[in-house]
Amino acid sequence: MILQITTTHLPATDLGYLLHKNPSKVQSFELPFGRAHVFYPEATPERCTAALLLDVDPVGLVRGRGRAPGTGEEYVTDRPYVASSFLSVAMARVFGSALAGTSRERPDLAGAAIPLEARLAALPCRGGEPVLRRLFEPLGYGLSVDARERDEKFPDWGTSPVAGVTLRGTVRLRDLLAHLYVLVPVLDDEKHYWVAEDEVAKLLRRGAGWLAAHPERELITERYLKHRRRLVRLALARLVDEGVPDPDEEAEARSRAEEALEERVGLGEQRVGAVLAALREARARSVLDLGCGEGRLLRALREDRRFERIVGVDVSWRAVEVARERLHLDRARGPQRERVQVWHGSLTYRDRRLEGFDAAAVVEVIEHLEPHRLEAFARVLFECARPGTVALTTPNREYNALFLGLPPGRLRHGDHRFEWTRAEFEAWARAAAARFGYSVRFLPVGQEAPGAGAPTQMGVFVRG
Ligand code: SAH
Repeated sequence: MILQITTTHLPATDLGYLLHKNPSKVQSFELPFGRAHVFYPEATPERCTAALLLDVDPVGLVRGRGRAPGTGEEYVTDRPYVASSFLSVAMARVFGSALAGTSRERPDLAGAAIPLEARLAALPCRGGEPVLRRLFEPLGYGLSVDARERDEKFPDWGTSPVAGVTLRGTVRLRDLLAHLYVLVPVLDDEKHYWVAEDEVAKLLRRGAGWLAAHPERELITERYLKHRRRLVRLALARLVDEGVPDPDEEAEARSRAEEALEERVGLGEQRVGAVLAALREARARSVLDLGCGEGRLLRALREDRRFERIVGVDVSWRAVEVARERLHLDRARGPQRERVQVWHGSLTYRDRRLEGFDAAAVVEVIEHLEPHRLEAFARVLFECARPGTVALTTPNREYNALFLGLPPGRLRHGDHRFEWTRAEFEAWARAAAARFGYSVRFLPVGQEAPGAGAPTQMGVFVRG
């Protein structure tokens, strides 16, 4: 298994300072699964190439797993010959400082984008060349792929999933190494070690600055974390919003309690009804459901053909999966596939995909935001996404003690950061409307009680 990195940045031999490896020496390193060697097949001022040769010991691999040697079949493996998670481990070990972006002798060069080329002699590409391209091209690389037949004697067997691949780009060396570190095992879709919690942190660290915006971040995260759902959800949530602790865990357990509490008053249904009425009245044809949860409102929207484009967004990857499942989005075909979509994203970060919609619903979401993030939320919603109409609901705290039997001061849901009285909500909503050029009116949702108002309060904002 060999990885070669070439630069033509003058003087090219500075690559040695960036990698912390002297071009005139061959160096070897012991690794748990074999040995790594670093040497320079070419080192001129115009062009310099460093090679990382990985010598994976197949016998050691089998022994390391404590399996009794049998027929010898377990020794037959492609692992020593192809680029895989072994390469990532070796890169972290051998090029650790370069991955961290530090160079004592050439600190400026370490921070600069320079012409670089990485060549992997044998890269297994699950999903073939299209997946390879979808992973590297958005990062700005040009690719040459040297696909081979599986066996030249048997052309019918088709092309091999293992290809020789060259990436070319003008990037910082640390970024190239980080991209390879994450994406090689992703392409291979296989890891030689058990994936545990700390892999989430590793992925986020190596993915810093590029993964959150990568169009294939879902595929990358799923494969990198070996399809372990809990870790995938956690990593994806952190990627789109590092401020959320573990959005699924809390929300899942506690929303049941809130639902039970509110069920007595049939509140969920009434909320959907009130929001639908506001959206219809606005004659909205394209609608966002921000913080869509498991998709209750999305299902109601889908029933009404007046809504031609319906998009749910949630920060919880679990919620996104459940909503997609309940709406059977994986089975939708043709125009239906376009009509209803569920995206993973956060409402406290600007997201250009949210622009251009007629209306947005934000149902029982703001009370889940930390108060200091309300400002960011208001800007994302009213300034960036800027839909014509916004129907926004939140619990009315005045209703709690009297009618829901909650002890005074207790909120309806353990994950609520606050609940507002009518006066508090109206003050926030009026200020936001005035600031961003909207008008707002307020409607009670659910049975009103004397002196306390309705269990849910709704503000309908219309762009001026
Ligand atoms: N609107 C749904 C769900 C309400 S629960 C309904 O009425 O049934 C609140 C939802 O907001 C949760 O699904 C939670 O994951 C989501 N949420 C919380 N913070 C968010 C954020 N910053 N960005 C997007 N969604 C968020």
